[in-house]
Amino acid sequence: MNEIKTILSEAKNIVITTHKSPDGDAIGSSLALFHFLKKLNKQVTVIVPDSFPKFLNWMEGTGEILHYDKQKEQAIPIIEKADLIFSLDYNGLSRIGDLADPIAASNAIKVVIDHHQHPQDFAQHYIVDTESCSTAQLVYEFIENLGGLQQMNSVIGACIYCGIMTDTGSFRFPSTTSKTHQIIANLIDLGVNGSQIHEQVYDTYSMNRLQLLGYALTEKMKVFPKLNAAYISLSQAELERFNFHKGDTEGLVNYPLSIDGIKFSALMTEKESDISISFRSKGNFYVNKLASEYFDGGGHIYAAGGRSLLTLEETIKKMEQVIQHYKSELIA
Ligand code: MN
Repeated sequence: MNEIKTILSEAKNIVITTHKSPDGDAIGSSLALFHFLKKLNKQVTVIVPDSFPKFLNWMEGTGEILHYDKQKEQAIPIIEKADLIFSLDYNGLSRIGDLADPIAASNAIKVVIDHHQHPQDFAQHYIVDTESCSTAQLVYEFIENLGGLQQMNSVIGACIYCGIMTDTGSFRFPSTTSKTHQIIANLIDLGVNGSQIHEQVYDTYSMNRLQLLGYALTEKMKVFPKLNAAYISLSQAELERFNFHKGDTEGLVNYPLSIDGIKFSALMTEKESDISISFRSKGNFYVNKLASEYFDGGGHIYAAGGRSLLTLEETIKKMEQVIQHYKSELIA
């Protein structure tokens, strides 16, 4: 921490990056750190690989975020000029798409703040806690450890609240600790309006999104009650039918876990170039190993991602085989 304090005091131009398809924790933690560093009079830019869901737009600073896929010319000189780069909520350059090239090429000091397992070796400093519920909580603790809590305000606090809330399924996943609740309590005392943030993130569905959820659960969910497993698959045509927008399937993978007894859930969505897969689990079944062994992915023990280059139909077949393969662990 002392070393990082020195680095931070010397840094002038700071870039904050986060993973592809940024979620609430990615944007929340990035903007929290952004606002904090601005208060320390640093030149700071948040650069994301691609766009994020509209339901995160209420956070202050979203308008200043650079989208690397659309604003390369603007982003590259800023990365070249940076003397310090933060990598938030990801731990391998493969997670940031094309943004990996300028980040890898940069001579800036790199600091990772993250809670995913198995960090790759691309940075000088790692503030990693795989037990932590969210990168947003780690950013709060980072600010705390820097002695910077007097800089904390409701703007920074709202971003941290959003990151913790979205990564803990609204404070209910096992990673939610008393420390998490203490941080949330401190944020509320600073004027953060928790119920408003819930509404802004969760009660802003389009009608299409809600109908896609209904369709996916009614027509596209396959449950294996004897194996405690379930999956949902969605083709591009089905997504188009409901006028799909980024973020519309966010959280969908969690629903099968609310069926009594189900402890493994997968969501396969057909993208232009591959099938993207989300995994969730609970209890004694962990998904990160399954994701990395069979679907070119990884993540947390209860929440992981992966992909498949097969067709959707072939991927579904493979998924059913993998579920059978894990039968003894699923029914344990
Ligand atoms: Mn996260």
